[in-house]
Amino acid sequence: RQGAKPLSLNGCDINFKNIKFAYYDAKERNIFNGLTFNVPAGKTVAVVGGSGSGKSTILRLLYRFFECDSGTIEIDGQDIAKATVKDLRNSIGVIPQDCVLFNDTIFNNIHYGNFDATEEEVYQAAKDARIHEAIEKFPDKYETRVGERGLKLSGGEKQRIAIARAILKDAPILICDEATSALDGATERQIIDTLRSVSLDRTTIVIAHRLSTVQHADLIVVLNDGKVAEMGAPSDLLQNSDGLYFEMWNRQQQQDKEALSIGVVEEEAGRGELEG
Ligand code: ATP
Ligand code: MG
Repeated sequence: RQGAKPLSLNGCDINFKNIKFAYYDAKERNIFNGLTFNVPAGKTVAVVGGSGSGKSTILRLLYRFFECDSGTIEIDGQDIAKATVKDLRNSIGVIPQDCVLFNDTIFNNIHYGNFDATEEEVYQAAKDARIHEAIEKFPDKYETRVGERGLKLSGGEKQRIAIARAILKDAPILICDEATSALDGATERQIIDTLRSVSLDRTTIVIAHRLSTVQHADLIVVLNDGKVAEMGAPSDLLQNSDGLYFEMWNRQQQQDKEALSIGVVEEEAGRGELEG
């Protein structure tokens, strides 16, 4: 934008104010219809809601891949639409839902987070993202080429490279979109611990499907019908038995239980077959 100003950051308090938004080729369908919430400086806010409720769209608007139709997003009181895109994007580290890697080496893919970082810092970021050991086991180690869009890596490996990249970028705002969705349970817990320590002194937005992964958030925002349906501390939301969060939480607990019992039945059936 002509006359765009630099962003001056002071803790990074983020304010979504009455956002209305529809995608350009689907203007008849509003994704947001007056979305308002605040992410206090240095706090972690989790955004939850059904598939298609607009969680990733929040990230796209904050990063200015798209502009809001009306309403403003402010960082430390400054409208991001009037700030330079360079400053804005420098201030945000993103761990996307679907991470696209460059057809280059693992080293360069992580280094992309911050080209000023030293070789040692790249390795440290990989260690923090729990991917260093796995990389060391590849024949070409950090020189391994990842293929088109990273197709030669597993979903979980790609995700951890995205996390390493964001750790290396070391931006004051962090957004994680389903950051641990492709990981197994044990790795997921390790990464959640890592992300918690990375987000400690940062303003963080975590987008999550699995509510159990965001119990540490300071605040949870529940999206529904293009608006905030409910907002509060995780423990407070669980007290409200008429609320959407309470319902989602119970449904997921039930699903987890069912998945567990199906797993046990299958395992027993498998053992029977082997013995038979
Ligand atoms: P999920 O949990 O499945 O990731 P989400 O809450 O992140 O879902 P979004 O990706 O924000 O959902 O999408 C919100 C809605 O906007 C969806 O119904 C989607 O079909 C629509 N949408 C997303 N991107 C575009 C686009 N580029 N053009 C048009 N519609 C889009
Ligand atoms: Mg999404």
